[in-house]
Amino acid sequence: MTDAKILKLAESIRAGERRALARAITLVESGRADHRTAATALLSAVGSERQAIRIGLSGTPGVGKSTFIESFGLMLTDQGLKVAVLAVDPSSARSGGSILGDKTRMDRLSRDPNAFIRPSPSQSQLGGVARRTREAIALCEAAGYDIVLVETVGVGQSETVVAQISDLFLLLLAPAGGDELQGVKRGIMEMADIILVNKADGDLKAQAIRTCADYAGALRLLRKRAQDPDGYPKALTVSALEADGLDAGWAAMQELAEWRKTSGIWDRTRADQARYWFGEEVHLQLLERLYRDPAIRAEIAKVEDAVSRGEITATAAAAKVTAKI
Ligand code: GDP
Repeated sequence: MTDAKILKLAESIRAGERRALARAITLVESGRADHRTAATALLSAVGSERQAIRIGLSGTPGVGKSTFIESFGLMLTDQGLKVAVLAVDPSSARSGGSILGDKTRMDRLSRDPNAFIRPSPSQSQLGGVARRTREAIALCEAAGYDIVLVETVGVGQSETVVAQISDLFLLLLAPAGGDELQGVKRGIMEMADIILVNKADGDLKAQAIRTCADYAGALRLLRKRAQDPDGYPKALTVSALEADGLDAGWAAMQELAEWRKTSGIWDRTRADQARYWFGEEVHLQLLERLYRDPAIRAEIAKVEDAVSRGEITATAAAAKVTAKI
């Protein structure tokens, strides 16, 4: 891609053209070295002065994430806000295949001109997914989106990635019996700013209210975090299906965001995140250089066999490879 083309694409993104944004995200997803160079230049060209509220959303399959994103997204666009939706998990890692790629998912929101929904890439390593998501967020911000929702199914390390990417982290849960409360990993609870117990409607409503009270109790037992005002992290009930409680959830998100902005925690968190991602990028770029070098690839192939035959230890073999850098 020529410099002129990159500048033109950056301009179109900043003008809010959705097709340009979609093309740019395809570029940052590409593994090709020349695309990487173009993506790096493009990200510099779009700048970073526009900021969205970045909201991470985690929840197991079936808890109602897509229903929630659709209802919540429509509520926000009704208020005149522009909403982008991204997914962290490669669809191959999801049970039941590609969920965000499914056309029936978030059908109404996907037709809303003030919404932009990007299906997750079909496959990628976690390091690559984190980079792609981070860069896609930057592009959505440059395109003028007010809210960027980043969804994860909560498998493996993906929450950590989302927590390092977002300003606010939501955990969506289903109504459950007391025993099931144990099933939510403590680490995930500790990351959550707001727990939303979904499906608080019909027969499930009473159970949802009880579950919410259980989680509110569990949250109170966690250590008080510097990034929280009184009353946070908090648990609320919602019904994504009936679009009930979403306004209260949004009010809580805004209250927390305002408090963090006023106290300086917002900017500090973003600065810490930038530093973290810089470190991750150094690792990633070093690895990319390493695996692109034909001499090193040949050395790896050679010592790999020796390692598998037990002729050399894994540590010594790795030292032989890295000595070639
Ligand atoms: P995801 O896998 O987390 O994206 O979950 P979905 O949004 O696809 O929802 C899974 C199922 O739960 C679907 O059958 C939804 O209709 C249902 N569901 C989602 N939200 C609600 C809700 O608020 N109330 C009720 N009763 N069902 C819901």
